[in-house]
Amino acid sequence: MFVEETIGKYEKYINPAQAKLFRFMGLGSVEAEAEGWTVKDSEGKAFIDCLGGYGMFALGHRNPAIVAAVERELHAMPMSGKVLFNRPMADLAEALFEITPGDLRYSFFVNSGTEAVEGCLKIARLSTGRKKFVAADNAFHGKTMGSLSATGRDLYKTPFEPLVNGFTHVPFNDIKAMEKAVDEDTAAVILEPIQGEGGIIVPSSGYIAMVKRICANRGALFIADEVQTGIGRTGDWFGVNHDCVEPDMMACAKALGGGVMPLGAIIGSEKTWQELIEAPFLHTTTFGGGEMACAAGLATIKFIKERKILKRAADTGAHFKEGLKKIGADFPNVIKEVRGRGMMLGVELTKEGAGGMLMSLMIDRGVIIAYTLNNPKVLRFEPPLIMPKNVVDKVLQIFHEAVKLTAAAIDDL
Ligand code: PLP
Repeated sequence: MFVEETIGKYEKYINPAQAKLFRFMGLGSVEAEAEGWTVKDSEGKAFIDCLGGYGMFALGHRNPAIVAAVERELHAMPMSGKVLFNRPMADLAEALFEITPGDLRYSFFVNSGTEAVEGCLKIARLSTGRKKFVAADNAFHGKTMGSLSATGRDLYKTPFEPLVNGFTHVPFNDIKAMEKAVDEDTAAVILEPIQGEGGIIVPSSGYIAMVKRICANRGALFIADEVQTGIGRTGDWFGVNHDCVEPDMMACAKALGGGVMPLGAIIGSEKTWQELIEAPFLHTTTFGGGEMACAAGLATIKFIKERKILKRAADTGAHFKEGLKKIGADFPNVIKEVRGRGMMLGVELTKEGAGGMLMSLMIDRGVIIAYTLNNPKVLRFEPPLIMPKNVVDKVLQIFHEAVKLTAAAIDDL
């Protein structure tokens, strides 16, 4: 009754097509409570969360350390009045300065990934006086006008044109194309260190470093979109660390709020911030940087440091990838490739139809997974970084079962 009522309200007041699609994919239950890597629906069925809120639940659901930090602010100063100084925001900015590479120093706090990207784009124009941007085909940077202009998929863009002027897209991982595209009018190049929604695409080693060098040579900024890769997802603080790259600006969100609060950050070097230092009210926000959100961010960074979560994510991720590869080797008619880094893993399927079947088989068996937004042929596994290896093994066993069933039906998909 409760479930039917909820779906009925989606149909009437949210979006009937979305309700139908969710039902079709076997997602006909209502989330009720969650803890760690487990989500329970209103009927009491438990799911292992291998999607992790698209990367948001890096520290699991309702991590007690984050909840406690947020609760303290809830009863003291939940949101900032913006007129007096805000201590949690100052502490979080300092903590980000300490964990970000190179000379990234200043932070501006927002509520989402797309806002973080918008801010980076605006500040890049402001600080360089240039207008143009280069982004990658199939990139995903968000869906507000500026970030959507950087996003590399026409399906999401065409209905909203005209978008922001000045964006060029080049194939990801193609250094020659990048070299041609960046010129003296380019304000910045924006890239994800690993393309997430594009299908968990890991570029060749050295690619991101070469892009940064091209930017530096031509006076353009390099913006790393770490919204999905940042805060431990890949087994290091940031995706760019694997290539030893020091970006001029960084967009951060998702995991930064510890899975409890919406929180994003625009982070820039001293050079990028100069105009903003002269005119700090050129970019403002009412909600961004509230005490509860910043306390969550601070507790997140502290938890990752104290519990050595980066190493844990790298180790568990390697174990997970190995297991997925073995399944891939057993069923090459279903799985084309397994790739990714840390706990950001993708399984490319031989057929798009296999994605839907596998997703509903997994959900039916109590494991939440999904495919990537720009590439439905790729199933993504982005579990909480704290998931233990024995739970990963259980997921692998269920996935093996689901792939076996899909293999038997592959010709009809
Ligand atoms: N940038 C990247 C790399 C993302 O993966 C996403 C979301 O998936 C975004 C930006 C947009 O973030 P949000 O959905 O919080 O606006």
